[in-house]
Amino acid sequence: MGSVILVTGGAGYIGSHTVKMLRAGGREVLVLDDLCEGHREALLGAELAEGSMLDRAFLADLFASRDIAAVFHFAARCYVGESVTDPGKYYRFNAIGTLNLLDAMAAQGVDKFVLSSTCATYGEPESMPIVEGMPQSPVNPYGASKLVCEWMLRDFHRAHGMQSVSLRYFNAAGADPAGELGEDHAPETHLIPLVIQAAMGQRDKVTVFGDDYPTPDGTCIRDYVHVCDLAAAHILALEAMESSQLGVKAFNLGNSAGSSVLEVIRAVEKVSGKKVPYEIGGRRAGDPPRLVGSSELITSELGWQPRLGDIHQIVESAWNWHSKHPSGYAGE
Ligand code: UDP
Repeated sequence: MGSVILVTGGAGYIGSHTVKMLRAGGREVLVLDDLCEGHREALLGAELAEGSMLDRAFLADLFASRDIAAVFHFAARCYVGESVTDPGKYYRFNAIGTLNLLDAMAAQGVDKFVLSSTCATYGEPESMPIVEGMPQSPVNPYGASKLVCEWMLRDFHRAHGMQSVSLRYFNAAGADPAGELGEDHAPETHLIPLVIQAAMGQRDKVTVFGDDYPTPDGTCIRDYVHVCDLAAAHILALEAMESSQLGVKAFNLGNSAGSSVLEVIRAVEKVSGKKVPYEIGGRRAGDPPRLVGSSELITSELGWQPRLGDIHQIVESAWNWHSKHPSGYAGE
């Protein structure tokens, strides 16, 4: 049995937090990243195999030459809007990239896999909170490209006995409480970093995408979950696969509580002591009013509990990182 945990996308936002946690737990980690969107600084010294998920020969060599026990698969393209305008990119990286990885694993008998999946695989469910048994009917190519990966996992289990856990994240947010890692996307489109940048004076203002939704304050509600709580879930999934035959599982990862866009702005103001300049704009296409997930299944089956579940804790950790790293990793 192998000993190395291969982490694809380990130089990215959620991947890097997970790599740090794995290494802190004494695991041997190898990161696979093409550094297109990831940051070398975010590796914190972890070993890197630089290459692409689309390079089948590179993947075959990697699996043949290293003693890989399990794969955490974060590498993906993840902008919903871009997936609508450039679906090919999403099916290529997310679906074909994952297939290449699974083929390379199957060829070497590597049989443990954790997928970064997403609540976007559900589309727009009629009732909340979302539970795992609800129909998966994605409304954009990003969600569809991840759902295809979940299907592949079901079939690779049947054919090759590959165990897997698909973790359907809600809104990943926050940063490493020790301040070494944070969220640094270019371009930044996510609400919390944008609001923080506005509070820091790096942006004139934030635009609230619609205040006429059927929610208490009229703005969209999302379920923000701390990146370290996501990382911890991956490690619980790995331990569960190591101790028993788990088969094919899928779990939601959220806090079962939502925050509206205005609540996020208020939380940043409270944590930072600064005023956030904002304006109300039009709705963003494809935004459902409320997305909140139930995580009861992973709590009951794997014992997962969010440790940083409060929106203020999430925002505070993000604020600390952004104020220490005002230019993100580029300033290191
Ligand atoms: N949002 C906003 N202004 C922005 C960016 C996001 O009002 O500049 C809203 C967006 O409409 C959604 C929520 O903030 O309701 C979270 O958006 P984000 O892009 O962070 O994550 P998503 O829910 O799209 O995965």
